[in-house]
Amino acid sequence: MRRPLGVWLVLGSMSLWAGGMGMDGVGAAEGQPAGKPWWEGSQAGISDQVLPPWTPVEAADGLVQVWGREYRFEGPLPLPTAVQTRQKPVLAGPIGLRGKAADQELRWTGGPCRLVEARPSAAQLTGQAESAHLECQGTIRVEYDGMIRCDLELRPKQGPVVVQELVLEMPIPAEHAKYFHFYPGRWGSSYNSRALPAEGYKSEFKPFFWLGDEWRGLSWFSESDEHFYNPKGVPPIQIVRRSGQVVFRVLLITEAWKMAEPVRYTFGFQATPVKPDRPDAWDFRTVHMGSYQVDEAFLDRLVQAGVRTMCFHEHWTDIQAYPATTHGAELRRLAEACKKRNIQLLLYLGYEMSTIAPEWEAYHEECLVAPRAGGYKRTYQPQPDQTAYIVCYRSKWQDFLAAHLEKLLKEYPISGVYLDGTANPWGCRNTKHGCGYKRPDGSVGTTYPIFSTRSMMKRIYTLVRQYVPDGQVNVHQSTCMTIPTLAFATSYWDGEQLQSLKRPEKFEQIMEILPLDAFRAEFMGKNWGVPAELLHYASGPFHRS
Ligand SMILES: [Zn+2]
Repeated sequence: MRRPLGVWLVLGSMSLWAGGMGMDGVGAAEGQPAGKPWWEGSQAGISDQVLPPWTPVEAADGLVQVWGREYRFEGPLPLPTAVQTRQKPVLAGPIGLRGKAADQELRWTGGPCRLVEARPSAAQLTGQAESAHLECQGTIRVEYDGMIRCDLELRPKQGPVVVQELVLEMPIPAEHAKYFHFYPGRWGSSYNSRALPAEGYKSEFKPFFWLGDEWRGLSWFSESDEHFYNPKGVPPIQIVRRSGQVVFRVLLITEAWKMAEPVRYTFGFQATPVKPDRPDAWDFRTVHMGSYQVDEAFLDRLVQAGVRTMCFHEHWTDIQAYPATTHGAELRRLAEACKKRNIQLLLYLGYEMSTIAPEWEAYHEECLVAPRAGGYKRTYQPQPDQTAYIVCYRSKWQDFLAAHLEKLLKEYPISGVYLDGTANPWGCRNTKHGCGYKRPDGSVGTTYPIFSTRSMMKRIYTLVRQYVPDGQVNVHQSTCMTIPTLAFATSYWDGEQLQSLKRPEKFEQIMEILPLDAFRAEFMGKNWGVPAELLHYASGPFHRS
C-alpha cells in the first residue's frame, strides 16, 4: 500500500482524505562506510526468547504443545500424526508418504519419533522409517509460534531403485476443510481464497496452501518443487474428498524415476490460529499519513477522534523502503509529539531496494530477487526520482534491515513498523544468495524463500517487542496469508488486490469481486490468529453509501 503525500484517516471502513502536504528537505543519504559495512553479519533480532503472547514450547517424545495447539509425532516418519487446534483435531489421520518403489507399496515401519532437544523457544525430534526398498529419516523442529519444519531424507536401501510413486497425503476432517487459500495469488482477483468445491481442487505447484474453516486451519508449505517428478500436465497439488475427509495430496513422484542418491525434501506445517486475536485492528485505531508537516493541533484532533496508531508511509525517508532517514530532527519531533499523546508511530519498511540507496551499486546484484521484479518508480517532487526493485530476504539484506531497525528503535521513540510486502516470500531464482535450484534439464527453478522471510519477520517482531513491549508489526500483505511469515504480524491489511476493479453498479455484484467464502477464508483473521483490516481506497470497488 503506497500513497502519495498526504494524511489519511482510516478507521475501520471509513476513509477520509485530510489534505495533501509536501515534504521538505531532500538530502544525501548516509554515507557508505569503507570495507565491510557495520550491518553485515548483524545478529539484531536473533533470539531464543519466547515473546508474548506466545508461551514456552512443552515437549515430550512424540508430543509438542505450543500456544493453542497440540502436535503429535507418534509414527516412524518425521511428519505430524495428529494436530489439534482450538480444541478440535484438524488431522483425520497421520500425514503420510504413500507410493511404490520397485513395484511394491511403501509400508513404513519403525519406532515413534524421539525428542532430541526441548527448549522454551523450540523442540526438535527425529524420526526414522523404513520400507522394503527405501529409508526415510529426518528431523522435526517446532518453534514457539507453532511452525513445524520437517527435513526429510529419502534414500534407497540397496542401490538404485525405481520409485513409481511418492505422494504426501494430509487427511483433514471435511468440516474443518471448508475453505482453502494459497500463495501466490493474483492482482485483480480473490481466486486464491474460496470454498473447496464439491469435486475437490487441482493446482500447479504453489509453495503455500491452507485449508480450514471460520475458526481454524492447517497449512502446508514447501519452498520449491525441487525433486517433484510428474508427467507434463499433471497438477502436483490435488485436493480430493474421501469418505468424510478432505485429503490434501502433494504429488512428488508419479513418473517412474530412478533414485540412485539420497533425495531431500523440506516441508512445513502450521496449524492456525497462531495466537490470540486480541488486541484487534479496532483496538489499534490506525491512521495512515505521508508527511512530516503535521502540527500539534492536528495531532490533538486525531487524539480526540480516537486515533491510537499512525502509520507513516515511505515519505519518512527520501529513499524508497530505506530504514534510515536524513529527516532525523523532524522524525524525532513527530515521534515525541505522538508518544506524548499515546499515539503509536509506525514507520514504513518495505520489500525493495532503491536505485538511489548508497548500497545499490555494491549489493543489488546479490540481494534483489531474480529475475528482477518490482520496478516501482517514485517521483514525489521535491524528493529525488528513483526506481525500487524487490529484494530477497535470503540475502544479506535481511541483516541490513534488522540492524537498521534496531538503530531506529534505539534512536527514536517509535512504536514499531508498518511493513509493506515484507511478509511476502517473493519468488526468486537468484543463485548468488542461494535461491533457485537446478532442474534436470539444466534450467533454474523458482524458490519461494519462506524460511528466510520468516526469519526476517521474526527478527522484526523480536526487535520491536524488545524495545517496545506493546509495539506493533503492522503488515500490508494483500493476497498473501503465508502464516509462517505472517504469524509475527500484530495485524494485517488485505484487499489492495481488488482496488483496481471497477465499482459495480449493483451492490450485489460486490459478491462477485469478493465472495463471502473468500472473505471467510482470507479476510477475517480469526481463523489465522492475526487481526485483519480490510484495505480499500476511495476509488476502489467497495463503497459505503
Ligand atoms: Zn532469493
